[in-house]
Amino acid sequence: MEMFVITIVIMIVAIIVFSRLSLGPKMKCTRCEGTGQVNERWPDPKEPGGWHRVEGRCPKCKGKGKV
Ligand SMILES: [Zn+2]
Repeated sequence: MEMFVITIVIMIVAIIVFSRLSLGPKMKCTRCEGTGQVNERWPDPKEPGGWHRVEGRCPKCKGKGKV
């Protein structure tokens, strides 16, 4: 009976650790913070018109929200 309880506890811990790894901040896109949408605007002399502008879908993760 004790072994059974220990096995259940180990399984629960393993599931928590696995879900934390898969849903951790590493998977989230750093540019749009996981939303898939960006709204960026700042002066950039290299861009046409002198402005860097990205609105809507995130170009880094292509709107998926994760890398
Ligand atoms: Zn993104």
